[in-house]
Amino acid sequence: MTFVLGLTGGIGSGKSAASHWFETQGIVVVDADVVAREVVEPGQPALTQIHQAFGDWVLLNGELNRRALREHIFKEPAARKTLEAITHPAIRQSIIQQLQAARSAYVVLVSPLLFESNQHELTQRNLLIDASEELQIQRASQRDGQSIEQIRKIIQVQMSRADKRQRADDIVLNDGHLEHLYAQLQPLHQHYLTLAQQQQSV
Ligand code: ADP
Repeated sequence: MTFVLGLTGGIGSGKSAASHWFETQGIVVVDADVVAREVVEPGQPALTQIHQAFGDWVLLNGELNRRALREHIFKEPAARKTLEAITHPAIRQSIIQQLQAARSAYVVLVSPLLFESNQHELTQRNLLIDASEELQIQRASQRDGQSIEQIRKIIQVQMSRADKRQRADDIVLNDGHLEHLYAQLQPLHQHYLTLAQQQQSV
């Protein structure tokens, strides 16, 4: 079995920046957010199930009408449960398939909800990219042009930094330049290579 490193962090903490660095080291990265979009693409069984569960209004030109669905589940909490009962197993199955198909010394599973969802069950070790709320807001607002208020709301509903720190095996504080982030990832990468090798030889 491949050694899987879970990579997580709050919005704007630097998860994607860290993932890209791992990719430059030849490590395959599976992104839970990307998988979540893939499983509801046209032709996927999950989209058919969503269509059957909610009706025609949930499609727009054959694609998932995300906005309409978002508004619907916001108004009806039971609908969120219905949706998640369809998407969560599909996401999990696809993540497992992609992790198994990966051919690198170890694999990274990057997910903003690693600890909140059951995705940490799929990993051997977890790395938290941590940053102060001030930096999270600054970076996320520069990246997506979202308002500070919107980002604050997202941070509020995410698991607290303290809780994440407690659950993580390794923590990188992304509080400087990108070079500072990469310099902290380098020794961890060496460590993961060793752990992956040890696991293989058992
Ligand atoms: P996440 O994936 O955790 O939401 P990103 O990796 O996308 O966060 O980082 C948010 C934004 O901040 C991106 O535009 C990224 O390039 C930038 N960024 C991340 N880390 C740093 C850093 N150490 N110095 C400067 N900019 C950074």
